[in-house]
Formats: sequence, structure tokens, C-alpha cells
Amino acid sequence: MTPYLPRKAMIIMAHPDDPEFFCGGMVALWTAQGAEVAYLVLTNGNKGSDDPAMTPERLAQTRRREQRAAADMLGVQHVTFFDENDGELMPTLRLRQQVVREIRRFQPDAVVAPDPTRYFFANTYINHPDHRAAGEVALGALFPATGNPMYHPELLSQGLAPHTVPHIFLANPTEANVWVDISDVFEKKLQAILCHRSQIKDPDALAQRLRERTRAVDQYGRQVYREGYRHMTIG
Ligand SMILES: [Zn+2]
Repeated sequence: MTPYLPRKAMIIMAHPDDPEFFCGGMVALWTAQGAEVAYLVLTNGNKGSDDPAMTPERLAQTRRREQRAAADMLGVQHVTFFDENDGELMPTLRLRQQVVREIRRFQPDAVVAPDPTRYFFANTYINHPDHRAAGEVALGALFPATGNPMYHPELLSQGLAPHTVPHIFLANPTEANVWVDISDVFEKKLQAILCHRSQIKDPDALAQRLRERTRAVDQYGRQVYREGYRHMTIG
């Protein structure tokens, strides 16, 4: 069960592999129930390697391929890459206009994005600044720009009419208000994450970490895997 089953959902994330890590479970549940899902990946991930023989160009190509494979595995129909440089994502007006364009074009009734207020995880991990920037640019596009004809009038003249997205899910939020039981699709989420081979040194250790991080006891006392979101309903 998901808190809301969209007809069309857009997942706006910073890096190739973020969609799977942040919301792969809910995406798998949505596509299994017939939702049409589009990924919007804002950077090309071209700094995600410490291999001295790797070049940024080759890495970006590899990560594009890995992202498409992961999307296929989760039943995601559309993947769009914006090709911003990894580690340099900023919530600029230029980027916001591009995100508004994609939202108006696809007309989703749900958007998933990172929580831009999330700076830390426990006392051990600093959230990647690109994740915060992706959340910031997504929220800035969602309100008020996508729904207001006065914003980005050049889009209006291209036939892209204002569109308000009623459901927003902030992934990995500072404060979750919904928990989605992803037990049925946990293995699928894991397999989709493992498509990002260039990012994974030790698949077994990653699987172990993901199990530990995702495992919880639900309100009936059952062991489940779950993803937390801040679910907002707009308008
Ligand atoms: Zn990331």
C-alpha cells in the first residue's frame, strides 16, 4: 500500500542512482500498479569515482547506462538527464525554468524529490549538497512557478500551460509523516541499486547496510522494510 497512487509521477533527483536509493521501493510499487513514472536526473554523476584511470566523460556515459538499466528494472518508462556537473548543482533560475518545463510537459500528479532541509543523517553523515540543491530547485519549481502563467512566459508561448502538482513526496526527510511498506519490492529495489555497478565496491556490504537501514517494525509488530517520506498535498 502506498499513501497515494499517482497516474503519473516525476522523480527529480541529483545523481544517477539517487532515484533507486531514495525512493526505489515506492517507485516499484507505483509502476506495478500501473503508474507512469519519469525520472529527471539533474547531474551526470561525473565525479562519482576514485579510479585514477577514469575520465569524467567516460564515467558520465557509464552512469547514464546504469541509470537506464535500473529504471528498466523498476518499470520506469522515461529517463531524462540534464547533464549538470556532479558536485556543482545550484538552485539557479535557469535550472528551475528547465524543471518547470519538464513538469509542465509531463503533467505529473505526484513529484518525489529530496528534502532540501536535510543537512545531516545522525551524527555520522553529511547530506550531499547536490541532494539539497535538487530538493530546493524542485520545490522552487513546484511552487509557485509551474502553476502560475506569469512565471517563465516563454514556456507558455511553447504551449506548456501551467500545471499544479497536488502531491509532493520529500524523500529521506528530516521528519517523515508517512512510511511506505516496501517489503514486497525490497529485493527489486536492491537489484536496481546494484545496476549502478560503477558506484559499488562491495555489493554484499551494501546489501547488508541497506537491509539494516530499511528494516523496521510496523504498528502491528511485524518486521518490514520501509521508506519514509514527508507527504505534502498542495492546493
Ligand atoms: Zn546522490
